[in-house]
Amino acid sequence: MNDEVKCAKPECDRFTAINELARRRGFFWPSFEIYGGSGGFVTYGPLGTRLKQNIEAKLRELFVKKIGIYEMESSVIAPGKVFEASGHVDHFKEPMVECQNCRGRFRADHLLEEKADISSAEAEKMSLTEIKEEIERHGILCPDCGGKFGELQRFLTMFETTIGPYSGAVGYGRPEAAQNIFVEFNRLYTVARERLPFGVIQIGHALRNEISPRQGLIRLREFTIADLEFFFDPQEPCCHLLKEVENEVLPILLCETRLKECEDTTDLTVREALDRKIIRSEWQVFFMAMAKKLLIELGVPAEKQRFIEKLTWEKAHYSSQSFDQEVLVDRWGWIEVSGHAYRTDYDLSCHMKASGVDMSVYKEYANPVEKEELVVKPIMAKLGPVYKNEASKVAALLAKVPVQEVADAMQKQGYFMVENYEIKTDQVDISRQKTIVRGTRFIPHVVEPSFGSDRLFYVALEYAYGIKDNRVVMSFPRSIAPVQVGVYPLMSKDGLDTKASEVQRLLANEGFMVEFDETGSIGRRYARADEAGVQLGITIDYETLSDDTVTIRDRDSWQQVRCAIKDLPKQLHKYFEGKVNFEQLGSIIKS
Ligand code: AMP
Repeated sequence: MNDEVKCAKPECDRFTAINELARRRGFFWPSFEIYGGSGGFVTYGPLGTRLKQNIEAKLRELFVKKIGIYEMESSVIAPGKVFEASGHVDHFKEPMVECQNCRGRFRADHLLEEKADISSAEAEKMSLTEIKEEIERHGILCPDCGGKFGELQRFLTMFETTIGPYSGAVGYGRPEAAQNIFVEFNRLYTVARERLPFGVIQIGHALRNEISPRQGLIRLREFTIADLEFFFDPQEPCCHLLKEVENEVLPILLCETRLKECEDTTDLTVREALDRKIIRSEWQVFFMAMAKKLLIELGVPAEKQRFIEKLTWEKAHYSSQSFDQEVLVDRWGWIEVSGHAYRTDYDLSCHMKASGVDMSVYKEYANPVEKEELVVKPIMAKLGPVYKNEASKVAALLAKVPVQEVADAMQKQGYFMVENYEIKTDQVDISRQKTIVRGTRFIPHVVEPSFGSDRLFYVALEYAYGIKDNRVVMSFPRSIAPVQVGVYPLMSKDGLDTKASEVQRLLANEGFMVEFDETGSIGRRYARADEAGVQLGITIDYETLSDDTVTIRDRDSWQQVRCAIKDLPKQLHKYFEGKVNFEQLGSIIKS
């Protein structure tokens, strides 16, 4: 939030102000308005679409370009088996109550938080009966009509559908983009030239049938998720990029502090968090530090961010250690913008078991090891006469039994039963054999940072929002401004408009996001541009016609400089790459 500004209307919070501005200027608005709307769906307008693309470009720049994470894109609908295997069908549920009068449905844990001051962490621990008792004890009634609530149930928040015309072919809308990555692991591993570690990110829509979404962009039923799955060998867990972030300070609200009902964060450097074993995985803490950097680049200062360690009962079913990255916002307090989970080998193991496809990877030892192995070999010359044409079947059955079991039974009782076949000591050859083992197979471990684009978008708006001289100014960081340059002819006559069009073409051809505006007074155009977050305004005036220079105006300081048209492309490239500041763009005009 811009320090020099305060809310224009003290009675309205930033959430209301931003939603109003977003509708008016075309950042975003609730979808399907002509049919009365449908909660949890939004439409991004021209400015919003661009801003969201710029935010996602930041994710790509940070992870895909700089770290070399692969990117993939897959389908939003998946066959039921995928989410049965991953555990979502059993676990992706929220407690829900229904009003007996108006039939309104509400998240029971949210009601407890709002009306009984019971935190979501506490509610998450409770059984359905306990939640019901608390609702009754606090006399909580329907927030819409004051009616009484009926029975509680756990509601599956995945959208269910059928694939094709067959009612048996159940499919689900993905509630996260991660599962696509896990089910495609074998192919992705081949693309990664069968080497660990490597990561894959998928940025795409996710669907969650939220029970009562009432928080605008923060809780949507269809939103954009950026799931990054990073695969590594648990025996070689070191992060070779750790040096880059080692001294980064992470403010963490630790479990031990939370259990004392205290909200104080502990400032730990990345190194300290590892040394004190507060964060177990080097890769996990690396991505947490990167997430902090990302948010700073989106305009959220470090002191408005924190990480919160999830308590055992709050963690998702797949996670062995989880932290949420949170940002402080005006209406809602601390909200989660990204989740950081150590998913271990949970997902790959689940899909391996359910599909029967091997998803383990082979690792060659640096030095082959000699191993002595117990070997049980059926002697066919002895089995044949006894079992005749069933002899090979018996040998095959025997091959599936752990050798130690056979050896023990033979030693103890002189025979071994496999199904109904009795195998005697003289029908097998049991010996110890030396073999050279060159490698081993294992299932990679995974850490996952998972960002919600729409929440990143919302916090970028909230922290850009400011008021200057009673006017809204959206001070986005220059790298994400939805429009980089506005071009304004002072008047739409005397050749100023033609010249302005030339400047617009020149800059558009240079790759800048440029907008041309010639309607209304120049003051009104500047005001409109400030609200839209246009970074720089270029005005073509009568002086331009004589000396080919233009005025460049800075959105935030309202300072102006004069610059030659021929220098504009070079200067603006430097400015948007962060190599020069505004004052270096030309000669300052004293106001
Ligand atoms: P989760 O898998 O629940 O940790 O979600 C990952 C990220 O997705 C969160 O950190 C949020 O930024 C975002 N997210 C989750 N649920 C929603 C939602 N209903 N609407 C918008 N963003 C969401």
